[in-house]
Amino acid sequence: MADCIFCGIVAGDIPATKVAEDERTVAFMDINPATRGHALVIPKRHATDLLEISPEDLAACAQMAQRVAQKAKDALGADGVNLINSCGPDAWQTVFHFHLHVIPRYKGDPLKLPWVPGPGDMDEIKAAGEALAA
Ligand code: AMP
Ligand code: ZN
Repeated sequence: MADCIFCGIVAGDIPATKVAEDERTVAFMDINPATRGHALVIPKRHATDLLEISPEDLAACAQMAQRVAQKAKDALGADGVNLINSCGPDAWQTVFHFHLHVIPRYKGDPLKLPWVPGPGDMDEIKAAGEALAA
């Protein structure tokens, strides 16, 4: 879809630190991470939100999120994971291409939800992405 940032990432027109991909989905690093390893899982086919995505793509996103969550534990040492979807502006959705946030949690980390997005350190984001992708 024209003017959609995440469609641009799927197409390869917008740079992203991809960590995993399958036939229906892509997982990549969030550039404003809530914690180390914060990733997003999206369907390759554009859907605005939770209410518009096809059941097949939703299932594929859930399975990819499970895979990334397992990686967060194995590769980054996460103690837990929050899986979050925001559907609609009043639920904090800001990018209107369906996505699941996979947020690794660490014992005693200071994260309060909702987090206040702030620019991350690109080298650190890349390093965490590489650990998840390996
Ligand atoms: P939401 O507010 O739930 O719609 O989440 C959108 C998320 O997309 C935010 O956490 C942003 O940091 C993230 N985001 C926006 N643009 C990009 C981008 N180009 N690459 C990676 N993450 C992005
Ligand atoms: Zn899109």
